[in-house]
Amino acid sequence: MSARTAAPTLHIDWTKCRGRGVCTELLAGLGRDPWGYPLVRGGGSDLPLRGDEMTAAREAVDLCPLLALSIRTRS
Ligand code: SF4
Repeated sequence: MSARTAAPTLHIDWTKCRGRGVCTELLAGLGRDPWGYPLVRGGGSDLPLRGDEMTAAREAVDLCPLLALSIRTRS
């Protein structure tokens, strides 16, 4: 049996996010609702990240003014 590593995800902490929308400008996978809150494709709090989205995801983590974003990896 081979070990599989799940794709990293961009996690949104909804208790911190106040819908400033910076992350939605950096990541195409995030839509924006009418109040500026990010909408994760497929729903939920975790946006699966493709390899070509990692740089933008790290930038979003660094720029989120409320420290509401983190990159999670699971194996
Ligand atoms: S940048 Fe941060 S505070 Fe702004 S919408 Fe994204 S997660 Fe929320």
